[in-house]
Amino acid sequence: MAISCTDPTLPSLISSQTVDSCRSLSTLKQTHAQILKSPAPSPDLSLTTKLVASYGRFGDLGSSISAFNRCGRAPDAFLFNSLIQAHIFNSLFGSALRIYVRMVEDGIVPNRFTFPLLFKACSSSFMISSGVQLHGHVVKSGLESNPFVAVGLVDMYMKNGAIGSARMVFDGMAERDVVAWNALLTGYSQNGMPAEALGVYNGMREAGVDVDFVAVASVIAACSQLRSIHQGKWVHSWVVKNGFEADVVVATALLDMYASSGGLDLAIQLFEEMVIRDLIAWNCLIACCAQNGMIEDAFKLFVEMQWSGLKPNGSSLAGILPAVGRFGALHLGKSCHGFIVRNSLELDEFVVTALMDVYAKSGDLIVARRLFNIMRNKSVVAWSSMIAGYGTHGCGDEALALFEKMQANNIKPNYITYIGVLSACAHGGFIDKGRDYFHRMVHNHGILPRVQHYTCMVDLFSRAGLLDEAMDLIDAMPIEPSAGIWGALLGGCRKHGHVGLGKYAAERLFELNSSDPGFYVLLSNIYAAAGMWADVRRVRSSMRERGLWKPAGWSSIEIGSKVHCFISGDMAHPDTNEIYKKLEEVMEEIGKAGYVPVTKVVLHDVEDDVKENVLKCHSEKLAIAYGLIRTSVGQPIRIMKSLRTCEDCHVAAKLISKVVCREIVLRDAVRFHHIKDGVCTCGDYW
Ligand code: ZN
Ligand code: ZN
Repeated sequence: MAISCTDPTLPSLISSQTVDSCRSLSTLKQTHAQILKSPAPSPDLSLTTKLVASYGRFGDLGSSISAFNRCGRAPDAFLFNSLIQAHIFNSLFGSALRIYVRMVEDGIVPNRFTFPLLFKACSSSFMISSGVQLHGHVVKSGLESNPFVAVGLVDMYMKNGAIGSARMVFDGMAERDVVAWNALLTGYSQNGMPAEALGVYNGMREAGVDVDFVAVASVIAACSQLRSIHQGKWVHSWVVKNGFEADVVVATALLDMYASSGGLDLAIQLFEEMVIRDLIAWNCLIACCAQNGMIEDAFKLFVEMQWSGLKPNGSSLAGILPAVGRFGALHLGKSCHGFIVRNSLELDEFVVTALMDVYAKSGDLIVARRLFNIMRNKSVVAWSSMIAGYGTHGCGDEALALFEKMQANNIKPNYITYIGVLSACAHGGFIDKGRDYFHRMVHNHGILPRVQHYTCMVDLFSRAGLLDEAMDLIDAMPIEPSAGIWGALLGGCRKHGHVGLGKYAAERLFELNSSDPGFYVLLSNIYAAAGMWADVRRVRSSMRERGLWKPAGWSSIEIGSKVHCFISGDMAHPDTNEIYKKLEEVMEEIGKAGYVPVTKVVLHDVEDDVKENVLKCHSEKLAIAYGLIRTSVGQPIRIMKSLRTCEDCHVAAKLISKVVCREIVLRDAVRFHHIKDGVCTCGDYW
């Protein structure tokens, strides 16, 4: 017969089970009132123990403590345990340990349930020294051989990163059940020691221990960390053989393992075979496709997931947005943003930061800044990506102002923040500020300069023509200069026509076996500008010998949702006649405004009028012409160029922006150029 806990006719029958069955704080309080009204002088200890624990579970620690204090009998270890447990449940780990101290002072001997609770408190709050002291108490109390206590110890040491101590306790255990093995296995996996975790797994199988879901999930996580498809496949076959594959948690762990080990095909295959796909599985595959550059597939999955009846969450968006930013797919970014707004999804810090990054990387700094401003808790990641956004767009002043503001807000910059700051200085040509920030990074913030910071500084000096200072910095570097550093120096030599140092930088680059044809092109540009045609031919023939070709540069423009791509001298576009007609028209206009072709950028030693014709058909000019035809007045023309844009196209774009009164946003391999009214934000440094 079911007993109602509020039945007034049966007060004496209220038992600890009745307390246990209370599903809400109010029913618990009613039951407690019944107990207090009952004719018995005071409730027995087991009933009080239940009350103390139940109040703790419902988060009413005050009632829990008062039930303990009003017990009316001498408390035993079980009653103390329940008070400790109530405190742990409410994350008051220090108080839990103080209750234990009082328990010992009151002369109550802790039992085998007391210590695992205390270990949990120590691991949740990283109080390893208390954990070590408690280990001593365990030895003194003779509970060391109790498997329940020992497992608690292993787990506590593992969670505090004391792997050696954990192993010692485990090895000293007389009998080990699965729980003990799992504590060791999970501990290794969570401490980033996947090889050891796999070793434990093998040990378990040799010892004939039953492997359960927890162990399987830990082993798969270890394979993900090892990025070992081979080991992963082996565990996968074991999973299938033992009938675990239908479990959605195990299947999702496998999916994540294949995805992070580079087995995208296997991940997709597994996903298709999964009977039940939860949100985690979908998010995992979406993020995996996005990371592998398959953003359109990622977006398709994102839509399909909703057809299947699941609602995307912050993780779904966080998986897709970074890739959208990396590939500058503003259109997709906007779709994601619209989706968030339409579905009133929660804009947590992570999603807003990712979204902000998309806009910043795609050239829409105004929306990026608006998103940055609405963030309540701005992390160092958010500050850094907004600073970097300003830097690459040539808004150096804004970047540095934001950096100062960040410090005024007591946010400590990290090495990534400084990459943004120094690159903003390089792109803006702020030489003194660059030197100053480099100094402050090392001396005020104790950040050891990495190769990226040196690259920014060499770039800064080289662009400004301070080639000696750039070379001095390279000589003084405690780390080996990278290809990027020599490339920056080479770029400076090209800009400032320094043949000797350019040749030296190029030799260092070729020693590093750099197969980037861009560097060969830079060197041949230096020779070409100096009229050293024999050297130009030599560089070009050595490129041919090495099988390096100047990558065919292309420019693209997004019109509506379609991307149009052009190569130099392109005649393949369906609207090609219209495009060349427009181009002729614009070139004539800018000619009147004073345009003189920068012929020195053309490699071939041919007559100037031929060079002019080559220049005229550069891909960015074709894309701009198409933009002028297909976009409406007042709209910025956004062009993406796969290589560093050439000086001539830069000059032409500036003049076009002036004569047709249109803003041109040009993203090249180096940076963004916001060109308006004849002026570019790069200040002609790039
Ligand atoms: Zn060009
Ligand atoms: Zn520019």
